[in-house]
Amino acid sequence: MEETAPTITKTTCPYCGVGCGVLATVAADGSVAVRGDPDHPANFGRLCSKGSALAETIDLDGRLLHPEIDGRRAGWDEALDRVAETFSRTIAEHGPGSVAFYVSGQLLNEDYYVANKLMKGFIGTANIDTNSRLCMASSVAGHRRAFGADTVPGSYRDLELADLVVLVGSNLAWCHPVLYQRLAAAKAERPEMKVIVVDPRRTMTADIADQHLAIAPDGDVALFNGLLAHLAEAGALDENYIAEHTTGFAEALAAAWRLDMDGTAAETGLDRASIAEFYRLFATTEKVVTVYSQGVNQSSVGTDKVSAIINCHLATGRIGRPGMGPFSVTGQPNAMGGREVGGLANMLAAHMDIDNAAHRERVQRFWGSPVIASAQGLKAVDMFRAVADGRIKALWIMATNPVDSMPDGDMVETAIRACPFVVVSDVLGATDTVRHAHVKLPAAAWGEKDGTVTNSERRMSRQRPFLPLPGEAKPDWWIVTEVARRMGFAEAFPYASPAEIFAEHAALSAFENDGTRDFDIGTHAGIDAAGFDALAPFQWPARRAGETSADDIRFFAEGGFFTPDRKARLVPVTTTAPARVGEGFPLVLNTGRVRDQWHTMTRTGKSRRLSQHLAEPFVEIHPADAAKYGIADADLVRVTSARGAVVVRALLTSRQREGSVFVPMHWTDQFAADGRVDRLVPPLTDPTSGQPALKHVAVRIARF
Ligand code: SF4
Repeated sequence: MEETAPTITKTTCPYCGVGCGVLATVAADGSVAVRGDPDHPANFGRLCSKGSALAETIDLDGRLLHPEIDGRRAGWDEALDRVAETFSRTIAEHGPGSVAFYVSGQLLNEDYYVANKLMKGFIGTANIDTNSRLCMASSVAGHRRAFGADTVPGSYRDLELADLVVLVGSNLAWCHPVLYQRLAAAKAERPEMKVIVVDPRRTMTADIADQHLAIAPDGDVALFNGLLAHLAEAGALDENYIAEHTTGFAEALAAAWRLDMDGTAAETGLDRASIAEFYRLFATTEKVVTVYSQGVNQSSVGTDKVSAIINCHLATGRIGRPGMGPFSVTGQPNAMGGREVGGLANMLAAHMDIDNAAHRERVQRFWGSPVIASAQGLKAVDMFRAVADGRIKALWIMATNPVDSMPDGDMVETAIRACPFVVVSDVLGATDTVRHAHVKLPAAAWGEKDGTVTNSERRMSRQRPFLPLPGEAKPDWWIVTEVARRMGFAEAFPYASPAEIFAEHAALSAFENDGTRDFDIGTHAGIDAAGFDALAPFQWPARRAGETSADDIRFFAEGGFFTPDRKARLVPVTTTAPARVGEGFPLVLNTGRVRDQWHTMTRTGKSRRLSQHLAEPFVEIHPADAAKYGIADADLVRVTSARGAVVVRALLTSRQREGSVFVPMHWTDQFAADGRVDRLVPPLTDPTSGQPALKHVAVRIARF
């Protein structure tokens, strides 16, 4: 008998923002194997533990396979009609501001685009926000106020080309493992390359560091303001770049002088000698990349931290050249793509600005839409507050699990439970969020989905299907399109494939774009299905036709910012680290990821191999704090904040900063009784970005 050859599909990992290429092989017996794609420029064949276990997570256990209404199985027509009718009726009775979509960095660009188009252009409100708000909103805000657009200036290659890499609030080794592998390999090849890690915890990332600065929580503004002042004192500024390509330098420097060295040491919790060594290295090294992630973003002063970092790069002209620049690495697989297609409540599609009347008019004209959202919508934390107080009466949650991932998780659950109409489109049938839905819509999962994602270096890659759609599951773009049609917008939602949506987004990016706006392309505006299917990974924006280079696309080496005068803005920042701990709650809780789990474990929790790394939730405690509170290693510990408590296993380690504790974010009540740490986090946000402060919560600990 003739053997059927296995089929190999080039696709992209659905986990972190590194965006690794994956080769999925389906054998004749239907079994699936994955390996890294050697041709993908993000990973060149590497995969981390999570990526290499993808084949262990694609079974149908727990899948939502049919639409449901009020707990009973329903057909697609009935479910879609119910969603469209209820949203239309709610809008007619209470206005467009009474409905909201809460979407996800797990969505593909095409899913995101149609959801954004429906809400902002046809329903007429910007009440669409994404769990990416929890991930990189402060970087978006920092980029926009410095560069005039949410643009990442460099690429991954810059980490390998740099002579100094500063990692701030980033456990790259566990959270962006393949990028860390690339950095570690570059350092092994060039041992003279320096790595500095700025993080309250001594994470695994610090193992390759020449210097670890165990900074006090939220001490980053003081550290980088002090650096700017030092660069000026040391004569390490690029006066030409400052004069030709920036404004606001004098004001930023004046703000940076606020603290002297003693003040900087006090606010950062670091000793003067360590700070001085960091400043010296930065000042004397031309090729510097500063990588930052959630330790910077997830803060009530996150946007100012981003500005303080960017100021130092602008003042030295170290931006957009090989091996130089500030570099935000996103947590989610498509946080970047969601930003581009307008998934945030404060932006329009194609990086246009909702507060700009000309941008609104342009997008509305392109869409031919009856309305356009005229003001920013509710950001994630405010959105669930509005659900709680009854302003939002119909809510559609797509591909995310806010009961477990939002701050103040118990309040979010209560709000969703009380909301008059909740739709959830999801892969699984019984997450802590899905269980409260009036209408459940079965969505396609990784391996079944078809579209594009954009990684942290603006590289767009295809996610391609290699498995059939199970049961009655459908792609998210199809579900939104069908609801839009039933709401009376069929003409504007004609899509029969993700390729058509991608082409429309590309055309909108190029529409009336003379290059003074970010994302100038045009190269893909007329792409057809065959072209879409054949898309190889490329950096977005693509070059115009005729422009070619083997090198990565970088921005701003010669200025050309997306501000009206094409100059960057240095932003004076004076915020201080917020004081949260006090009587009753003397410790700072930091939350974050572990190496082998992803978010609320709905997928990685299926792999036994991944669960062997860390089998249960824990709290990292410095031995001195453990002694103070009478806690021994492996004790069960109750961690309590003003909002609630969790019970987790004590893990004593001097990697933890004294006075701070760490609890991972992944375990939900489904996986560990009383394990959901986000119930402890208050809904405090950065005033500019709306990003919650998930890493600075006042708590106490006690033996359970
Ligand atoms: Fe997936 Fe990120 Fe691991 Fe790459 S580094 S395989 S994108 S989880």
